[in-house]
Amino acid sequence: MYSAGVLAGADPEHLLIHSAYRSVALQTEIWQYRLEERRRLREESHEPPLSQRDLERLQRKWTAKPGQSAHHTGLALDLRLYVFAKREGLAKARQTAAFLFLAHSARDFGFYPYLPEPWHWEYNPPGLIARIAKLRGVVG
Ligand SMILES: [Zn+2]
Repeated sequence: MYSAGVLAGADPEHLLIHSAYRSVALQTEIWQYRLEERRRLREESHEPPLSQRDLERLQRKWTAKPGQSAHHTGLALDLRLYVFAKREGLAKARQTAAFLFLAHSARDFGFYPYLPEPWHWEYNPPGLIARIAKLRGVVG
């Protein structure tokens, strides 16, 4: 998919893997780090502090709680388009050649989008669940 994207004119940097499998322990570290970062940024910009519950509600828009991330399956990828999106914004990320290539062709490679995050793609080709179930039957 990377090679096809580059051949289609995508910036190779945008198609590299930024993050893939994450253990629950790593997701816990990421969750805590981002929660603290969010709290600090509110404080620095003199916004009123939020309750822990409201802070977590805001954060869940962008970061899955530990145990609830698609990245725990090993089938989800965040591409480096994430870095571009963080710097330039979601709208510009959706206009990149990389995103347009993915939107048009990722399903040919078995990848499907998570619409709120243009950098996040999940591998779920037709028949994957049946193949996993079959393997689990063999392994026991
Ligand atoms: Zn992701």
